[in-house]
Amino acid sequence: PGAGEVLIQVAACGVCHSDLHLARGEWDLLKPITKLPLVLGHEVTGTVTALGEGVEGLAVGDRVGVPWLHFTCGECEFCRAGRETLCGKQQITGCTVDGGFAEFIKAKAGHTAKLPDNLSFAEAAPLLCAGVTVYRAIKRSGIQPGERLVVFGIGGLGHLAVQIGKKLGLEVGAIDVAEDKLQLATECGADWTVNAATAATHKEVKARGGAHVALVTSGSKAAYETALRSLRRLGTLVIVGMTPEPIPLDIQAMLAGEYKIMASTVGTRQELQEVLQLAADGGIHCHYRTASLPEINQILDEMKNGNLVGRVVLTMDA
Ligand code: ZN
Ligand code: ZN
Repeated sequence: PGAGEVLIQVAACGVCHSDLHLARGEWDLLKPITKLPLVLGHEVTGTVTALGEGVEGLAVGDRVGVPWLHFTCGECEFCRAGRETLCGKQQITGCTVDGGFAEFIKAKAGHTAKLPDNLSFAEAAPLLCAGVTVYRAIKRSGIQPGERLVVFGIGGLGHLAVQIGKKLGLEVGAIDVAEDKLQLATECGADWTVNAATAATHKEVKARGGAHVALVTSGSKAAYETALRSLRRLGTLVIVGMTPEPIPLDIQAMLAGEYKIMASTVGTRQELQEVLQLAADGGIHCHYRTASLPEINQILDEMKNGNLVGRVVLTMDA
């Protein structure tokens, strides 16, 4: 590790849909800055094994997590305003620098998160991207207790969004095209579910009063189109799931409903600490299965085909 860096022996690393997009070169914005060849993985947990020069506040043996935001400058307009996710000098774990599908990773000491003692490495890993991303998105949407959150896409992010929504006192609806994922949403506390493959989703949601906030964690164009049509007046569409396809906007409907559209990506270090604490307090539980590193290509194939329920977490001791 160089100055300000730590070396971490990786214990676990979640597999995120962004890994698949990066591996397939589907993310135009990130393509020019992606390191090649690249070690993917940005939901990393492990143990500090060596400290670089000048590192304070971390010791060998500490249990830490390494998130998507590998580095932010701390000095630009956005960093100073507490919006470090928008830092123009940011480095990204498993994208601009090597990530956690590995036995060891280097990280910036100041951008690692200390893990609560009662969270295992595998439990904590998916919170480093999936958890913090939906936590921040729901918080920033401005939704109030008692209002209706509708989550489109019950994958790694969506099933955590359902739980966070319930924790915040919201009515939560869950939309997916797979029955097993809707079943997971129900287990996570969703008040109701709609199978978008068999029902006119926007009509079902509107019949329940419409979405105050429609949170799209899916990368499906159809999910975005349906989400927009599911809003109640003054409702907000929150963009989280990445799709390479453009989404058409019905301007007349936008005006008639005075809808809002906002986007939210990952989260700040502060938000990460908050979501880790929420999990440590028993507020949310990631549904995951573990796999070993050599299984990664098979897992990415399953992800591409939409066959994964919950999160897959690679464990390096396997
Ligand atoms: Zn991710
Ligand atoms: Zn900055």
